Amino acid sequence: MKLISDPFELKEYLKQTSQTIGFVPTMGALHEGHISLIKKARAENELVVVSIFLNPTQFLKGEDLDKYPKKDDADKKICQMSGVDVLFFPSAENMYGDDEVSILAPNVRGFVLEGTSRPGHFNGVLTVVMKLLNLVNPTHAYFGKKDAQQLNLITLMVKQLFMDVIIVPVDTKRESDGLALSSRNAYLSKEERKEALKISSSLRLASNMVSKNLLDTREIKQQMREHLSPLEISYVEILNRDFEAIEKVELSNTVILVEAKVGSTRLLDNIWL
Ligand code: AMP
Repeated sequence: MKLISDPFELKEYLKQTSQTIGFVPTMGALHEGHISLIKKARAENELVVVSIFLNPTQFLKGEDLDKYPKKDDADKKICQMSGVDVLFFPSAENMYGDDEVSILAPNVRGFVLEGTSRPGHFNGVLTVVMKLLNLVNPTHAYFGKKDAQQLNLITLMVKQLFMDVIIVPVDTKRESDGLALSSRNAYLSKEERKEALKISSSLRLASNMVSKNLLDTREIKQQMREHLSPLEISYVEILNRDFEAIEKVELSNTVILVEAKVGSTRLLDNIWL
């Protein structure tokens, strides 16, 4: 596995290849969720590039940038064992200067849901993804459905800016009890981890309602809110896959999303029906 921290070196190195490139951008503290993205990239491409970059521009003031879990050595081993060809781990100074051009998330879709509690977050996400895609120039880039809004906005950016990459969505990996894997789960105490299970079980509840043909989104959201109590809910939303509000669940075209606070940790989860 080749390790590269300099963006220009990465660009030069990858320029020489005529192979198909699968790219998996991450912020590190890798877990089985990240590994499933890498495995899919490995299966579908000749060359696999992973980036580990804790992108400062997507964290708002007061968020967890400084305490975000870091596991550099373990991450390198995981990449090596997962058959990664190139691991790119730049510093913030390598990626950003002072007076920077940036990508703006769309006014509506970028400022609802997670964009409400984290205004500007998706500007940072789209800017760094644009930089990384320009550096790697991959055939395919892999993103988790777990971050459904992020995936939606990146897909939109690639389409609207006529970019030449295929965005591949990957299913959410969960613990055996249903908790969606996340680097932020490391913040949870034993008690909080138990409470956090309400998030995935509220989504199962919704899915059970839908399988009984109860499709009214207001009723489903109400039941989910009751189930989530007493967690502090940021949002419970039911949207079509273009992220528009719907009154009735549309099979094969619906995403149900939850963000709730467990202790001081905000956790996201969703299901695609
Ligand atoms: P992060 O390191 O949190 O920025 O995540 C890097 C990529 O891994 C993103 O595309 C995430 O959506 C994806 N990811 C995070 N958690 C999971 C999970 N539990 N299952 C599948 N993909 C995930």
